[in-house]
Amino acid sequence: MLVWNRTYFLSRLSVRALPPVGFCDTVGVPVSDWDVLIVGAGVSGLSALRVLDRAGLRAACLEARNRIGGRIESIHDPASPVPIELGAEFIHGRPAEIWDIVDRRHLAAYDCVEHAVYSAGGHFQHDEESWEKISGVLDDIKRLGSPERDRTFRNFLDQSSYPADLKQWVTSYVEGFNAARAEVIGIASLAEDARAADKIHGGHSFRTLNGYDVIPAALVDGIEDSQAKLRLNSVVEAIRWEPGSANVHLRNALTGERQVMHAHRVIVTIPLGVLQAEPDEDGAIRFDPEPGEVLRAARKLRFGQVFRLVLRFQRAFWEDKHELSSAGFLLSREPIFPTWWTTLPVHSPILTAWSAGPHADELAGRSKDEIVRKALSSIGKITGLEPPALEAAYFHNWRDDPFARGAYSYVPAGALAAREKLAKPVGETLFFAGEATNLDGYSATVHGAIASGARAARQVIQQQ
Ligand SMILES: Cc1cc2nc3c(=O)[nH]c(=O)nc-3n(C[C@H](O)[C@H](O)[C@H](O)COP(=O)(O)OP(=O)(O)OC[C@H]3O[C@@H](n4cnc5c(N)ncnc54)[C@H](O)[C@@H]3O)c2cc1C
Repeated sequence: MLVWNRTYFLSRLSVRALPPVGFCDTVGVPVSDWDVLIVGAGVSGLSALRVLDRAGLRAACLEARNRIGGRIESIHDPASPVPIELGAEFIHGRPAEIWDIVDRRHLAAYDCVEHAVYSAGGHFQHDEESWEKISGVLDDIKRLGSPERDRTFRNFLDQSSYPADLKQWVTSYVEGFNAARAEVIGIASLAEDARAADKIHGGHSFRTLNGYDVIPAALVDGIEDSQAKLRLNSVVEAIRWEPGSANVHLRNALTGERQVMHAHRVIVTIPLGVLQAEPDEDGAIRFDPEPGEVLRAARKLRFGQVFRLVLRFQRAFWEDKHELSSAGFLLSREPIFPTWWTTLPVHSPILTAWSAGPHADELAGRSKDEIVRKALSSIGKITGLEPPALEAAYFHNWRDDPFARGAYSYVPAGALAAREKLAKPVGETLFFAGEATNLDGYSATVHGAIASGARAARQVIQQQ
């Protein structure tokens, strides 16, 4: 329970009594004063910074990590023919938030090969027919899902007359894509997301040629004196506020030194998983007073889990099988890593293994070596081939990362209204952004996160 009473706070920080909200730090030294402080330098925080900066407001972004981008993490390994993505990889459709950047910065982006091969019992089935059936179910959800008649995806399937085989494939698709559990995720949010995706041709995916990290970099570009406005290694521990004034308490992740910064407004863009964390957990932020409605809404939503592993082999061994040589995706019923993809249309010896929702729970607490062993065993069974020696395995454990605590958000049945409450400003002083607060059906995406940051910045500007 996120109750932050004074005694608790003092025991946690072991410092002298807190000063009143205002212009001094814990030792009474004047602190810097900003119009707006933004917590988190993922794409939502950076997008907020960009909008505020352009509007002439004095804004700064406080980021716990030693890099920007948050859940976008691209590795540029000289030994790899393509950038390795440990977080977001795909641009889903044609969202203006990303394509405007791609066009403005003359970035290269290319269509992904969507062609999927289904592997079951040593047989390969090409996707056209299976995908048509799956998208038929998704169309039914799009038609039937509404907040008034919301129910879990599992319940929807149980009451349907789809063949058992189709139910299995579509469950695997919905759980894998949304990092969700079928018995929790609601069809109202699935329907809303599907309708929103249609507006931006969301069924089609792209990659940036030089890595997804070009997007956060582009958001910062053009911000004058950005080094002073972007404070890396700054872990926000507490926000003490009253209407129009907030003290943001932070710790330097490198030196442990503590500092207080003051602002008139704060935009909080931390991931839902961090917002849901208990106050004594690493990365969590204590609020005084608590934004009760926002925190209650946060607890109604879910933060999905994903384990993704990128494996670089000596050669693209799966292409030895004619049926797999043109596959963009390999789908299976493997219990832990059922979903894989290649880098096609770019040929490379790289495969990505994807384990999400209930599959991902199986991997909690396991070492990277164990996870790699399980992935190799899965791909051996899926392809029917012995994988050659592995050159490298790239992995980020988002679940154990205190500044993420998972992959991305989803909405349980009956909880669609919680997103709106999460996105509501509090006392004209606290504003919340980040993918989980996107209200247009684009949560859990990069473009949805960028849009949410811009929205929060506009809300702040309107109140100036
Ligand atoms: C494995 C994986 C695959 C994905 N694939 C895709 C994809 O293909 N396409 C797509 O569109 N989306 C994808 N996503 C989702 C996408 O990455 C996110 O929706 C988006 O990047 C979220 O941006 P954000 O700014 O809301 O949050 P974040 O990027 O998480 O930014 C929040 C920032 O807050 C910081 N922070 C947290 N706590 C504190 C604190 N106490 N003090 C200071 N800073 C703090 C974090 O370090 C982080 O930098 C994927 C995500 C994951 C994890």
